[in-house]
Order: sequence, then C-alpha cells, then structure tokens
Amino acid sequence: MSEMQQYVQDVLDLVKKRDPDQVEFQNTVKEVLTTIVPVLEENPKYKAAKLLERMVEPERIVTFRVPWTDDKGEVQVNRGYRVQMNSAIGPYKGGLRFHPSVNLSILKFLAFEQVFKNSLTTLPIGGGKGGSDFDPKGKSDNEVMKFCQSFMTELYRHIGPHVDVPAGDIGVGGREIGFLFGQYKRIRDAYDSAVLTGKGLTYGGSLTRTEATGYGLLYFVKNMLDSKNISLEGKTVVISGAGNVAIYAIQKAQEFGAKVVTCSDSNGYVYDPNGINLDVVKQIKEVERGRIKEYVNRVQGAEYHEGCRGVWTVKCDIALPCATQSEIDLDSAKTLAANGCKVVGEGANMPSTLEAIQYFLDNKILFAPAKAANAGGVAVSALEMSQNSERLSWTFEEVDERLKGIMKNIYENAKKYAEKFGDPDNLVMGSNCAGFVKVAEAMMAQGLV
Ligand code: NDP
Repeated sequence: MSEMQQYVQDVLDLVKKRDPDQVEFQNTVKEVLTTIVPVLEENPKYKAAKLLERMVEPERIVTFRVPWTDDKGEVQVNRGYRVQMNSAIGPYKGGLRFHPSVNLSILKFLAFEQVFKNSLTTLPIGGGKGGSDFDPKGKSDNEVMKFCQSFMTELYRHIGPHVDVPAGDIGVGGREIGFLFGQYKRIRDAYDSAVLTGKGLTYGGSLTRTEATGYGLLYFVKNMLDSKNISLEGKTVVISGAGNVAIYAIQKAQEFGAKVVTCSDSNGYVYDPNGINLDVVKQIKEVERGRIKEYVNRVQGAEYHEGCRGVWTVKCDIALPCATQSEIDLDSAKTLAANGCKVVGEGANMPSTLEAIQYFLDNKILFAPAKAANAGGVAVSALEMSQNSERLSWTFEEVDERLKGIMKNIYENAKKYAEKFGDPDNLVMGSNCAGFVKVAEAMMAQGLV
C-alpha cells in the first residue's frame, strides 16, 4: 500500500470509528476517497494539512424538533436536519428531503456528494443537504403547509442567500418550496428570493429548473455516447422512479429518439412495450399525486409488477436509475449486463451500490456517475440564484442552452482527469478528482478553518 493509499485508509477507519452506524456516509466517503489517490500523490501538502480529515467532518449540523397539527387536530412531531458540509467555494447548497427514511447518515452522504457535485458545475456553490423524516405521502395540502411552516420556523435562522440555499429533493417539490419560502419571507420580513431554489415561476423561479436534472442527465449521457459514436436513436431505455428526475429524463430520452419502456415508484414498476406515455405519468404523479400502478388502467398493453427492484430485469440497452440510493445492487447489475445493457447513467444520488459500480467498470459498461450526471439540477439552481440577484428572468431556451454547456463541461472535465490518470472510461474516478481538486485548493487557500 502506498503512503497515500494508507492515508485514505486511515481516514476511512476514522470515519467508521467515529460514527459506526452511518453506513451510507461511510460508503460515499469510501467511493470518493479511494478514487482520488492520484491527486493526493501529486499534492502531498493535502496530507500535511489534514485536508481529508477536515473534509469528512461537516462544518455544522443542525437538528431540530418540528411540531405540527394534522387535520384531525392531533399533534405530530418530526425531526428536522440541515447538514452544512463545506462552504469553501460558496454558500452551502443542496436539497431538502422529506421521506420517512431520512436520518443523519443519509443526509451526510448526500451533503458529502453535493460538495463535489457542486464543484464540478464550476459555479460558486458549497455543499449541504437537509430534510426531515416527515412523509408527505397521503397528507393533505393543509398538513403539508403546516409542516413546512413549522420546519422553516426553525430552519430560517440557519439559512440565507449568502449562507445556505436549500432546494427540493425527494418529497420536496414546487408545492413544498412555495410553503417554505412563504414562511421564510414572513419571518424575515424581507424578500430574499435567492434563499431557496426550485421556486415557482411567479415568485423568482427559473424556467428549466423543473426539467434540469432529468434533461441534464440525458445531455451528459449523450456526450458520453457521442464520444463512442453511439446514438440514442432507437435504443431501449429502462428508467426507475416516476418523480421529478425520472419524468424529465423520460421526456428528453424520448426527444432524443430512444424508447423508454419502464418507470416505477416505491411499490412497483410499469412495463410498457410501446413506450411510456408521459402525459399519463404526469397526470398520475404531478396532478393526482397517485400511485404508478394506475398507469395500466389507462394505457392498453402495459403491465404492472409489484416490487420496484424488478425493473432491472427488463431487457434494455441503457439503464437510468432515477428513484433513490442503493436501488441497483450487485445482483441487479449482473442481471442488467446479462440482458445486454451497455450504458448506465445515474439520475438519482448513488443509486448503484459500490459493488455494482465496480461491476459496471470491470465489465466495460459505460457508466455515468451521479455526481456528474445529475448535476444539472443544482447547476440550474445556481442559475436561478444569479437571476434572482440580477432581478431578471432568462428564457427557457437561454437556461437550457447554459445547462447543455454546463453538462458538456462537466463531462469533458471528468474525462480529462480520467485520461490524465490512465483510465479514460472511468468517469467515477475522473469526476471525483475534478470535483475534489477545486474544493481542496480553495480550502488550502483559506487556511485552517
Ligand atoms: P421525487 O420525490 O420527485 O421522486 C422520487 C421517486 O422515487 C418517486 O417515484 C418515488 O416513489 C421513488 N422512490 C423514493 N424512495 C424510493 C425507494 N426507497 N424505493 C423505490 N423508489 C423510491 O424525487 P426526485 O425525482 O427529485 O429525486 C429522485 C432522486 O434524484 C433522489 O436520489 C434525489 O436525491 C436525486 N436528485 C434529485 C434532484 C432534483 O433536482 N430533484 C437533483 C439531483 C439528484 P414513491 O412515490 O413511491 O415514493
């Protein structure tokens, strides 16, 4: 083991010793640190400055009580969090997740990923993540509003346009951002548009923000495929999820001429051999907030299967996981490959386990890692902040063009580092190194903080 490999191992041991139960966080730290050894070898000053030890420790974590009353008048109590991971290159930036599975390990993993993802966008934003174990599913608009108002009544003191700028994530879409923004404005008595992103278009939101993560994923995958002279035209695509990322990934994949045959939610998946009818999915998920199972009652020839993991057994050329973390394990990765899948692009955050990623890399499956491939959402969030500062709104086409340019840059930067360190198709290593270098240099320049 080289000196820098040993350094990385020591830091991984430290992370495990400090928080033995935070498995998701340990996994993401391992995923990043084991791939940046070549950068550490070029820069021994990072080890001397204990840079990795500092990076794995969030600058600040806030947890708080969120009391609210449901429609029956009963008191409910949830737990709220904000993990402010790293502000070396800009204010903390990252989404809020409302889901019963939310805990500190998951939020630290997401915040750690966010630091390097945001760096990759080349925009001046640090990394953070937050949320609550509140489950918006099945709640009335009134209950969601009460919860959001109570959540913001504590969170407001920790955020601000130059401090920390949250956005949406699982369970937090336009409706929730609206309620959160309203309460922030009321408490602060100031119109700080750029305190949250993902806002509605009538109050400071950016055109293309809703579409950005899904579109950005397809732009990234297209760049990767173009470099191999492979076209998306006529390819069969399997997508998981039926939320914000999945819906706009389906839309752009279809625009590029691919045939998307699946989508899913946490109960099961839909297989439509004729290609997913996106209008039906949008009606069920965006308007009715229903279950994806409904799809088969409205579209002839489609099948519904219980259990979301089954989606990876469907034969395809390209798989785009867009639901949640760890949805592709080693078995699913092997099944995908055995069925002829040649490309995997991650729309969700860390949807593939470490073993699955290694399997894809070892088996020459073209792999677009989340940190790079799903950075379009946060990139357009940063563009939303720019528009708020300018007090101007750009057109859909203008934002979309910038998004395309950003995704191309991210791809080329990841590719550049992958080539530099001798593994040209390893965009996991390439994007981790590219994202890491900028944060590391900014931290070194700012002294021991
Ligand atoms: P949404 O809440 O809009 O949609 C999430 C989708 O995933 C839903 O279909 C949901 O089904 C499904 N899902 C959630 N949890 C699970 C689970 N445990 N097992 C199976 N399916 C599940 O979220 P987004 O589309 O915004 O986010 C999806 C992923 O993309 C997340 O990993 C998020 O961190 C990541 N991401 C999102 C960005 C954004 O701009 N929104 C930006 C970058 C990354 P159900 O309705 O049953 O819960």
